[in-house]
Amino acid sequence: MSLEKGKTIAQNGLRLRDSPRDGETLGILRKGTEIEVLGRETWLRVNANGQQGFVLEDYVEPVEQHLVGNDEEEVVVEEAKIVVFSSSRMQGNQIRINSGFIDSMKILEQLCEKYDLRLHITSSLREPGQIISNNIVEPASMSNHLIGHAIDMNIVSHEDWFNSTKLSDYDSLPDTIQSFLSDLQAKGLRWGGHFSKPDPVHIDDATNLKSKSYYVTQINKLWGGAVSLI
Ligand SMILES: [Zn+2]
Repeated sequence: MSLEKGKTIAQNGLRLRDSPRDGETLGILRKGTEIEVLGRETWLRVNANGQQGFVLEDYVEPVEQHLVGNDEEEVVVEEAKIVVFSSSRMQGNQIRINSGFIDSMKILEQLCEKYDLRLHITSSLREPGQIISNNIVEPASMSNHLIGHAIDMNIVSHEDWFNSTKLSDYDSLPDTIQSFLSDLQAKGLRWGGHFSKPDPVHIDDATNLKSKSYYVTQINKLWGGAVSLI
């Protein structure tokens, strides 16, 4: 079995922690430090005795659920899993996404390889900013960030940095970045630069439009019944 290897790319060094989220800093890895990937950890957002938080999936055993009064019929529980995605082509903030968005992230990773680009991630999974009530649901107006199906990013091409301002001027972008943006759309993802209200740092997979029932299920799994979508 060969170990997956990687190289750190954070310009100013990458913090090595003793645990994934807010762990103690063990040291700073210089850019280009070679690392072996020993594991990828999956986080579940849970409600435990009325308190919400995240736990590692490895320490959770599934419990079979049965409908009351009918012990033969199982309730199928659609999963809502939040994972931490990492890639040698991506840097910036920790990338927390829905397990259903991993394939999309891999597409972005492959396109970064193809065009020799890196993504600096500024935002991924986001908590609802306000209380959302669960009966009125209009996913089209709701962000895919809330279900971990979107990222916000800047694009880094060698030493050149393309932030929101630069990305909003499509015609001035280098060919590699224009190709990156058109390829990702050809593969079914959306780039926010083409939204009616442009959001050029945003990429998602249009889950809120393509699969409303999935969107609603995920919202409620992740953020609980207290979530009200308007
Ligand atoms: Zn966004």
